[in-house]
Amino acid sequence: MFHAILLNKNEDGTTKAELTQLNDAQLPEDGDVTVAVDYSTINYKDGLAITGKSPVVRKWPMVPGIDGSGEVIASTHPDWKVGDAFILNGWGVGEIHMGCLSERAKLKGDWLIPRPQGMSSRTAMAIGTAGYTAMLSVMALAEQGVTPSSGEILVTGASGGVGSVAVALLAARGYQVVASTGKLAEADYLKSLGAKEVIDRVTLSEPGKPLQKERWAGVVDSVGSHTLVNAVAQTRYSGVVTACGLAQGMDFPASVAPFILRSVKLIGVDSVMAPKSRRIAAWDLLAKELKAETLATITHEIKLGDALTWAPKILAGQVRGRLVVNVKA
Ligand code: NDP
Repeated sequence: MFHAILLNKNEDGTTKAELTQLNDAQLPEDGDVTVAVDYSTINYKDGLAITGKSPVVRKWPMVPGIDGSGEVIASTHPDWKVGDAFILNGWGVGEIHMGCLSERAKLKGDWLIPRPQGMSSRTAMAIGTAGYTAMLSVMALAEQGVTPSSGEILVTGASGGVGSVAVALLAARGYQVVASTGKLAEADYLKSLGAKEVIDRVTLSEPGKPLQKERWAGVVDSVGSHTLVNAVAQTRYSGVVTACGLAQGMDFPASVAPFILRSVKLIGVDSVMAPKSRRIAAWDLLAKELKAETLATITHEIKLGDALTWAPKILAGQVRGRLVVNVKA
């Protein structure tokens, strides 16, 4: 038997979430690698799954947890043997395949990537999908030609998981980072991560003009809705905006003006189905570029059972940085 968070659907359609014990027979049959999970995380999507606030879970019962790190304990997959250190992010795990808020999981070997040399399980999950998505966003800006000398980079949802890691990564590369947050009390935190300026997110979250004063050479947005629209409207000629999130909303009530008059580029960033080579590239860069002391500032550790109380908090925007879950605690 092992501990896990289990989600079931109540008769009225709401989600019942509990800390319980499962056995191996309850793990999915279509996995070819069984793993012992040391650490997992709570991402925004895990918050949606555990609270049932959005239809993230599409198979019941479900173990949530889109991220996991630990060791292989059994495998019939040619690439994985007992004792190998792995990282799992996405691929529908915690949505349609039982996930990693559990001491044990049965996953597909094709989904796993090797944990970079020297990176602990805890560090990998302190980064998690949010941090890996932040790196995908930073990679996209660089690939589109945005360099530290291009000008200011706006990071929205800056005190959240994606935002905090994006601020730290961009600052470490020498970019001038402007952090937008609803938590102005966290200004010192954001500056400690490397932001040169902190702005109030209300300056971006209301409907605005289609073309506004040009400021940003690049944007990392995890918020969507009017915030993304305004960020695009304030982006300089040929600037690049990456969009990965929907913390404000999934809508995008925008004008084409910034695209057709300023050649602004809007780049979508998805972590869930990203190809393996791209994941490995992102994780290798994270291992090299994210300093341990910076990550320590960003991270708060919780126990497996605490996932139930922290899930609503992440949706309410009350979590600073990253939540790492010590699954065995
Ligand atoms: P967090 O909750 O940690 O961070 C989101 C941040 O957005 C909050 O901390 C808050 O920051 C800001 N925010 C929250 N509510 C609002 C609002 N109503 N209006 C404006 N800003 C708001 O979540 P994550 O960082 O884990 O994820 C961020 C988003 O990115 C989510 O939508 C998530 O689903 C998405 N995501 C997408 C991925 C992909 O593959 N495309 C992968 C990972 C995440 P502040 O108080 O500083 O303003």
